[in-house]
Amino acid sequence: MPELPEVETVRRGLNQLTLNQEITGGDVLLDRTIAYPFSVGEFIHGIKGSAIATWYRRGKYLLAELSPSAKEDAGIKGRGDAESEVIAASSPRHPVTASPSLTGYLGAHLRMTGQLLWLHRDEPLHKHTRVRLFFGDQQELRFVDQRTFGQMWWVPPNVAVETAITGLAKLAVDPFSPEFTVDYLAQKLKNRRRPIKTALLDQSVVAGLGNIYADEALFKSGILPETLCTNLQLEQIKALRTAIVQVLEASIAAGGTTFSNFLNVKGVNGNYGGVALVYNRAGEPCRVCGNLIQRTRLGGRSSHFCPECQH
Ligand SMILES: [Zn+2]
Repeated sequence: MPELPEVETVRRGLNQLTLNQEITGGDVLLDRTIAYPFSVGEFIHGIKGSAIATWYRRGKYLLAELSPSAKEDAGIKGRGDAESEVIAASSPRHPVTASPSLTGYLGAHLRMTGQLLWLHRDEPLHKHTRVRLFFGDQQELRFVDQRTFGQMWWVPPNVAVETAITGLAKLAVDPFSPEFTVDYLAQKLKNRRRPIKTALLDQSVVAGLGNIYADEALFKSGILPETLCTNLQLEQIKALRTAIVQVLEASIAAGGTTFSNFLNVKGVNGNYGGVALVYNRAGEPCRVCGNLIQRTRLGGRSSHFCPECQH
């Protein structure tokens, strides 16, 4: 399942490849992938003719700010493709400043198996293709999703983002936000009689963590996954907060994880698997003490830990 580093890797790729390019149309192959508006026709109509100003990330949600097409703004409608290309190429990396003339937001959540791929239109359609968004130069942004839990939204300019994308309303702070302090985390974990591993997977405690980076952060901070939140000392919470940020940064630097079917927008796997501390390493020696990494079941999920380094 894509976690924060994978979604951040996708966001960076999208910002390199899609900015200031007009969405010329689209095709929805699986209606229920579109979570808002309820009509698929309205979704396509809403985004068509807009350009992507910039991509944001909130937790594991991707949000593109849409603006009126740059081509229409410049009054060059109807000119040849070659000239449009020059204009598109001249400013692809400079996000358009937010203006009152925004045409809404395009949202996406990859959930279990979603992939956003930047492809040539002629690229054969994978059987799990759910949505296609068309751009100029025969390029398209393709949403491929085997398990079909992934979602996309078009939020019209007059609708609050949290109203359309309801999951955003209950999302906790992002680990890279200045609000993610020791006090914040201590408050969220206070008096909770559930294992810390389970709490870290709760998106209303911290946004963006999943099984991989929860295990990694617990190892790095020396805390056993089954430790009850209520039993954590302030020093441990401090170490945990630092570890969460560090493992996420390390994975983003590696381009996301190698595990599962994660691909960046260019269809390339990440590289974090090679440096993982405990995740998916059961039976292999701990990189710190040499004892064997163990695996246990906790809340229906696998947890990987070192019995020597974690207490
Ligand atoms: Zn160890």
